[in-house]
Amino acid sequence: MIPYSTQSISQEDIDSVIRVLQSAHLTQGKEVELFEEAICNYIGCKYAITFNSATSALLGAYAVAEIGVGDEVITTPISFVATSNMLVALEATPIWCDVKLDGNIDERFIERLITPKTKAIIPVDFAGKPVAHEALETIAKKHNLLIIEDASHAFGSSVNGQKIGTFADMSIFSFHAIKPLTTGEGGCVVTDDPAFAAKLRLFRSHGMIKKELWNSDMLTLGHNFRLTEFAAALGRSQLGRVDIFIDKRNEIAAFYDAKFANHKLFSTIPIEKNTRSSHHLYPILLIPELKCHKEEIFKELHERGIGVQVHYKPIYQNSYYKEKFGTTRLEVCEDFYRSELSIPCHQEMSMEDAKYVVKTILQIFQKIQTL
Ligand SMILES: *Cc1c(COP(=O)(O)O)cnc(C)c1O
Repeated sequence: MIPYSTQSISQEDIDSVIRVLQSAHLTQGKEVELFEEAICNYIGCKYAITFNSATSALLGAYAVAEIGVGDEVITTPISFVATSNMLVALEATPIWCDVKLDGNIDERFIERLITPKTKAIIPVDFAGKPVAHEALETIAKKHNLLIIEDASHAFGSSVNGQKIGTFADMSIFSFHAIKPLTTGEGGCVVTDDPAFAAKLRLFRSHGMIKKELWNSDMLTLGHNFRLTEFAAALGRSQLGRVDIFIDKRNEIAAFYDAKFANHKLFSTIPIEKNTRSSHHLYPILLIPELKCHKEEIFKELHERGIGVQVHYKPIYQNSYYKEKFGTTRLEVCEDFYRSELSIPCHQEMSMEDAKYVVKTILQIFQKIQTL
């Protein structure tokens, strides 16, 4: 089976983890700091604060932005549930905005959702394609809102050479096993704001600071959301190859773009020329007439060794959210969910694999066309 995404672990990665396992510090040593420094250098941001997942990083970012009871936050339903879950964990209300045909939040609909309770906008760079930062920033400035970007898909994505992580007030990356760069489980928040950075460090580690000798002080309520030293070593080793990973995914994506151009039964998502996408996912979108065949297509692709997946069921469709907030229905989100399939696109694939994926997909759609 060719999975839709997978990790890439080299001997160098393994060696760097073993080196740390054999050292004195499995946690709270120098590795986390070195990894954070390397992230800042790569992204071009001032502060990187690692966490043990993007979910805890999201909770940290929302908490230090002082999102809390009764606040409203405008976000996208086309994401992993954690984007909204961590708002609910702070007793804030996610206000879901419809998306565009590329799966990113539709900035045209945001202003009408703003109320006096609105605190922030939380966009997601779906599949690694950057959101419309300029438009979002204009709205945020006008209404005095924060932008907290769930960039879990977009480590290494950039616009005009400027990396994702430098546009929003805070940006969150995931280092889950199948994300663009992995530490097994892990995540981080990047920001240029020293106050957010300091608060995030406290939030991550019990709200405590060291004073002198045995004396420490707890200043705020915190958690233990720290990344281990060996996870950080893996991350730093991976970071050395992340551009090679992204180049490989771009090569496969360009091959798919060419082979699938102007197909009558499905479309792909174009990436603008000034933009580099991490291509965490490569989505194809079925035409409306084919949506009732999606199950069949999904099953047949799996039977033929192509591990497609669907991203995402709109968050508001989950039972928990229906019970808590009632029924929501956003037109483009509904269509997007019914039409989307993520096909394999990752650095562990050979061009032979990519050719097999293309050939099989074209055959399956050919068959459906003649039904
Ligand atoms: C993967 C993902 C998360 C959660 O990341 P974890 O590191 O698994 O906690 C959050 N948001 C989005 C958009 C994701 O894709």
